[in-house]
Amino acid sequence: MKTDIEIARETPLKKIKEVATQLGIPREEVQNYGKYMAKIPIHLIDEAMVKEHNLILVTAITPNKAGVGKTTVSIGLALGLNRLGKKAVVALREPSLGPCFGMKGGAAGGGYSQVLPMENINLHFTGDFHAVTSAHNMITALLDNYIYQNRNNCAGLKEIKWKRVLDVNDRSLRNVVTGLGGSANGVPTETGFDITPASEIMAILCLATDIDDLKRRIGNILLGYTYENKPFTVRDLGVAGAITVLLKDALLPNLVQTTENTAAFVHGGPFANIAHGCNSVLATKMGLTFSDYTITEAGFGADLGAEKFFNIKCRKAGLSPKVTILVATAQSLKLHGGVAEADIKQQNLEGLKNGLKNLDRHIDNLRSFGQQVIVTFNRFATDTDEEIALVAEHCREKGVGFALNTVFAEGGKGGEELARLVIDTIEKQPSAPLKFTYEDSDSVRTKIEKVAKGIYQAGLVTYTTLAEKKMKQIDELGISHYPICIAKTQYSFSSDPKAYGDVKDFELKVRDVIINNGAEMIVVVMGEIMRMPGLPKEPQAKHIDLVDGLIEGLS
Ligand code: ADP
Ligand code: MG
Repeated sequence: MKTDIEIARETPLKKIKEVATQLGIPREEVQNYGKYMAKIPIHLIDEAMVKEHNLILVTAITPNKAGVGKTTVSIGLALGLNRLGKKAVVALREPSLGPCFGMKGGAAGGGYSQVLPMENINLHFTGDFHAVTSAHNMITALLDNYIYQNRNNCAGLKEIKWKRVLDVNDRSLRNVVTGLGGSANGVPTETGFDITPASEIMAILCLATDIDDLKRRIGNILLGYTYENKPFTVRDLGVAGAITVLLKDALLPNLVQTTENTAAFVHGGPFANIAHGCNSVLATKMGLTFSDYTITEAGFGADLGAEKFFNIKCRKAGLSPKVTILVATAQSLKLHGGVAEADIKQQNLEGLKNGLKNLDRHIDNLRSFGQQVIVTFNRFATDTDEEIALVAEHCREKGVGFALNTVFAEGGKGGEELARLVIDTIEKQPSAPLKFTYEDSDSVRTKIEKVAKGIYQAGLVTYTTLAEKKMKQIDELGISHYPICIAKTQYSFSSDPKAYGDVKDFELKVRDVIINNGAEMIVVVMGEIMRMPGLPKEPQAKHIDLVDGLIEGLS
């Protein structure tokens, strides 16, 4: 089969204005970024249509390193629905540039289910990530300057919570000292970098409802504490307006097209392990405004991405999916069934069967939110008919909808079976209204316990002294009503990335608790999770090149 980039290159693209008008977006509203990408103004969002139309969540079982194919299946499902004569769009996250050059590769789908132009989407795209990075670091520079200018009086800060971000996987920047070189060069400070998808600005961009809300949230960002122990925010720094200016275009959803020339929104990109993991509320609502079916993806496995999608994004934006699609692959099921990673591409029915415990845990968790669940088997070339039959039979026994999809190899045609089941399920037995895992009024500790025990099935949750101290600060600030955003490995229900399958009764250690007062969430760090990833020994960058003006090696 051809590579992703070969398929992308061979697909004739429509002008983006044409794609927009096909969807019903007036031509004059389209803000072009070149021929094939555009931003769409948010005044077009129609809340009545958002409520009337159907939202579909795509999530997955616990992934293996290569990914389970949520983005690919999300796109393929939209293609399948369109082929059946329905109006459907996907709303996806923007890929982060860092991992494209590292291990995972891009995040614009794969095979015949991609969003295009994938080279642009995977790299600089419309500049949203650069805007987020600039806005974040601009705040840091202004804060450092404030501290420098006030170094001789007591107006400085005693505790600084705001670091820097960069959309590059750079482990050397995790811990740094700034302000070295003498008194003219700033006040020496121990700090560090996170990757841009972990920036609070990214979370804000994805949750803001309009420009005023964006500005309000930016103003609320907690930067540190004064010597009188008072919280010090971006508003106190006096720069909420200036930072909003940097983000005014980034706030608008990006319109692109699929491999079958249908519309797709790609906007905002928080990771699901270290952040809340969903595309922007505005892109999802834009999709719902203009189409009968909007398919959106939440990152990594359902324990992380879907939990945060429901408990944070849906709670705040008033969204409620009609159905949730749980993507499973034979490879990931085998990994979770005890098969060694090197052997997961070979048929192993016993291993596959063992791995179904992981699938069942995710089904049960999704049902706890009141969701109607459909399992889809994302077929890889190495999968056998017997493996597919085994998963299908298991789903039948468990009373959960099942559809095979071959969207990677066949595009929309390979998504028709799933699309038919989705239409039927939404018509006949849609999800119940969302049930959340915790109440706003629960304490932060109770929220953590409810997710840890209810969703991950941990036996015991313990806290470092630092985490205890932060939870006390949260109470004092009166912000314990915020939802929690757990940062944890994506490879296990536990915080141990090697504990596969359906691990339970483990201990979860809350290492740190980070206040995101602008995003209005409490980030809870469990186990050894890095907010700045590193690069592998054999980075993808070694395969990326420009040959005769064309980009090679992106996938
Ligand atoms: P996720 O969104 O779950 O991380 P992606 O859709 O990004 O997963 O897919 C991860 C990788 O696997 C991508 O490189 C994609 O092209 C590839 N992939 C997905 N589905 C298939 C498939 N059925 N066969 C082969 N490769 C696939
Ligand atoms: Mg994805």
